[in-house]
Amino acid sequence: MFTLHTKISELPRVGSATANKLKKLGILTVENLIWHLPYRYEDFSNIKTIKDLKINEVATIKGTIEMISSRRARHRRMHLTECLVSDQTGSIKIIWFNQPYLSQYLKRGGDIYISGQTNDDYFTLQFVNPLWEHAEKQLHTGKIIPIYPSTQNLSQKQLRNLFNQIKFVPNTLEDYLPQKLLTSYKLLSLSQALTSIHWPQKKSDFLEATRRLQFDELFFIALTQEKNKLTREQMFASPIPFNQISTKQMVESLPFTLTSDQKIVTWEILKDIAKSKPMNRLLQGDVGSGKTVVAAIACLNTALAKKQSAILAPTEILAMQHYNTFIHTLKKFSLSIALLTRTNKIINNEKTTKSELIKKLKNGKIDILIGTHAIIQEMVEFNTIGLLIVDEQHRFGVDQRHQLQTRHETTIPHFLSMTATPIPRTLALTVYGDLDISCIKTKPPGRKKIITKVVDESNRTLAYKFIDEKIKLGNQIFVICPLIEESDKLGVKAATQEYEKLSKKIFPKLKIGLLHGKLKALEKQTIMEQFKQKQIDILVSTSVIEVGIDVPNATIMMIEGADRFGLAQLHQFRGRVGRSDVQSYCLLFTDNNSQKTISRLQAMTKYDNGLKLAEYDLDLRGSGEIYGTRQSGFIDLKIATLNDLDLIQTTKQAAREILYASPQLNEYPLLRKELNHKQKNIHSE
Ligand code: ADP
Ligand code: MG
Repeated sequence: MFTLHTKISELPRVGSATANKLKKLGILTVENLIWHLPYRYEDFSNIKTIKDLKINEVATIKGTIEMISSRRARHRRMHLTECLVSDQTGSIKIIWFNQPYLSQYLKRGGDIYISGQTNDDYFTLQFVNPLWEHAEKQLHTGKIIPIYPSTQNLSQKQLRNLFNQIKFVPNTLEDYLPQKLLTSYKLLSLSQALTSIHWPQKKSDFLEATRRLQFDELFFIALTQEKNKLTREQMFASPIPFNQISTKQMVESLPFTLTSDQKIVTWEILKDIAKSKPMNRLLQGDVGSGKTVVAAIACLNTALAKKQSAILAPTEILAMQHYNTFIHTLKKFSLSIALLTRTNKIINNEKTTKSELIKKLKNGKIDILIGTHAIIQEMVEFNTIGLLIVDEQHRFGVDQRHQLQTRHETTIPHFLSMTATPIPRTLALTVYGDLDISCIKTKPPGRKKIITKVVDESNRTLAYKFIDEKIKLGNQIFVICPLIEESDKLGVKAATQEYEKLSKKIFPKLKIGLLHGKLKALEKQTIMEQFKQKQIDILVSTSVIEVGIDVPNATIMMIEGADRFGLAQLHQFRGRVGRSDVQSYCLLFTDNNSQKTISRLQAMTKYDNGLKLAEYDLDLRGSGEIYGTRQSGFIDLKIATLNDLDLIQTTKQAAREILYASPQLNEYPLLRKELNHKQKNIHSE
């Protein structure tokens, strides 16, 4: 007898070859196997007599083999097995291609089931490549058959045979969901659900099972979010009063006027931080929409209230860029602004040492600290931190956010997360379910719409000519390359190949720069600096490096292998150009000419709105593809989808009911255990 923890290799008929294939699917134990869910079903439960079969019908018949023969087809490298099967009502021809071994299993006189779709061969019906099975051990045909995600050379039949060995396992499982939820939300029990998902008798079985398992996935996300929210509601933050005079003075000193969206979100933030309830807000706005100045206003008010603020950026270059903006826009207020990254330790434009900087921070001599997440790793200590801002939050794990918030025990800083990643409403409710959201929808005035084109290989030369002409006019170009190999994590190979090609073959006379993940911070800075100073015409970079770089003279964004990126991500790349009043372009290269790919990319030419693009992609490809499941852990959904607003809201409601009844889940030990288990798995990823 085996249990959930039994290794899959200990199951009968699982040799090391099969075990290895299963490993590729993430299946190491019986428990993994039971959670390997079908992605669709074939309904072969429609058992018919041969006489009643219709053209193009999916059906199963049961009959006797009258004749079977096997041969090579003439003029083709193809093997053909032909068979005639009859029942009381008639007979039908069956053909299999390239399965020569069949004649060993199928013998004249044997009874079999045949499942598949009929088709029409000069007015007589036939089955081509149907499923088959000996009538005496019907397992794969004659009913609803689950189809599983699989890998090379691991057949659906093998998988189903494996599942049949563990058919009793679901019944040994205890349900972690309280009975109360099962009743009020009309859910199957866990054992029923797992039984029905793998061995459905009828369609409603797997529909109900699917709903229960989808409920589970979204419910645990909701439970985590609601629990965090409860914890935070019991904490305090220092209220930061709104300093009207200084805020006005700063805004008036800017070389532009704030857009109305910028004003609205600034006000939402200032109102939030004036309370003793900790702010937990997400500021969303396309690349170039002007989030930094909003952050600077919040930090100014915090500093004037004698509290410190911290801004975390995902890369050194962005941290540097923020630092320069802050120094510049806040220069009237004699604040102490510091930059702390691996390579830079600066206070108000003067170089300092790390220990000096940390000391000053602790003594409250620094008002605003800007840096990379090295700040977190170095465990710097603030005197009184009032506001924490994380730029491009989605690059940071969900965990880090909480790690930062709980370091200060009784009061925690107000928290603002800024992102250019557009977040569809359903996703906002789930993954970012415990955040309030502010949104900058319109860009600063005067910017021209970026002209976007999908370029296929036949037009590549033309595109290079176009680029050449623009460079002659003094414009600069970004080139983004996709990662070409799994092992090329830092994009060294991808970007280097492109760089070689452009600098040696295509544009030997131009100055071309290269940015990838292997370069040292200082080298990256130097290259960015050269690009800003127009010493580089074309900057080749991997997708993983920098978001949000501000180089107004760059007017063409060229993206190789564009089909490999999510639309929201392409939109972010595109946002790096079009930052001045000169017409900018985005050229999407792809060698994938399938209709599906092209029409997906064409969406980029139609929409200039990141949110629309993200929602469009969410429907087409699922959340993992857009946001990179690994980045957030949480949205690695197996069976639920983030498009199901109804179920998302239902599970949120259910989570609240449970926490209302028992805030620490003491009354539901099994549920608590499962939640801890799930969270631990996420953390260890
Ligand atoms: P992001 O939202 O991508 O972080 P930034 O804050 O870097 O955008 O702003 C992009 C550019 O737009 C900067 O050069 C900034 O000075 C400028 N900017 C911000 N707000 C406005 C505005 N209201 N009018 C004109 N330019 C603005
Ligand atoms: Mg930014």
